[in-house]
Amino acid sequence: MHGRRGRCPGWCVVSASTRAPDPARQQLTVDWQSCDGHGLCAEILPELVHLDEWHFPVVQRAVPKELERLARAAVVACPKLALKITKP
Ligand code: SF4
Repeated sequence: MHGRRGRCPGWCVVSASTRAPDPARQQLTVDWQSCDGHGLCAEILPELVHLDEWHFPVVQRAVPKELERLARAAVVACPKLALKITKP
């Protein structure tokens, strides 16, 4: 049962979505000096990036393992090389 914290198996979808973020996870960051607000990153990775009212990206920093590939694709596609993935 999911009511017992710490007892869910690692593959459990519910436990994965409610687990505290792993501090060792890759982090998505934006270099604001370089970002031009093209918004391509939000199109490629809407799960972790949305655009503010000025069309600049607001990113969820921790990258879940299942989205690492898409996050790398967004980094590569950024026309200003402003989106980066870093390890904490
Ligand atoms: S794709 Fe790059 S330049 Fe465009 S909004 Fe995202 S981080 Fe900024």
